[in-house]
Amino acid sequence: MGTILEGLRFSNLRRSIENSEDSGGKPEETKTLRGVYRCRVCGYIFDESLEGKPFSTLEKCPICKQGPGAFQQVR
Ligand SMILES: [Zn+2]
Repeated sequence: MGTILEGLRFSNLRRSIENSEDSGGKPEETKTLRGVYRCRVCGYIFDESLEGKPFSTLEKCPICKQGPGAFQQVR
């Protein structure tokens, strides 16, 4: 009843998932995106892992327009 076909399809699916994980861009860069910074003026939180980019790319606070100097690292 198509069990062999379904098994093949499943193994192909698993293989494609594994392949996509292997070629997932730049793992070194995403690993370093763990810092969290808080704006001391307005309390805005810049979470690198959520933003998907390092704090160094932030030019100013989107809320109060303060520069990165107004931020302090939370972790
Ligand atoms: Zn701010």
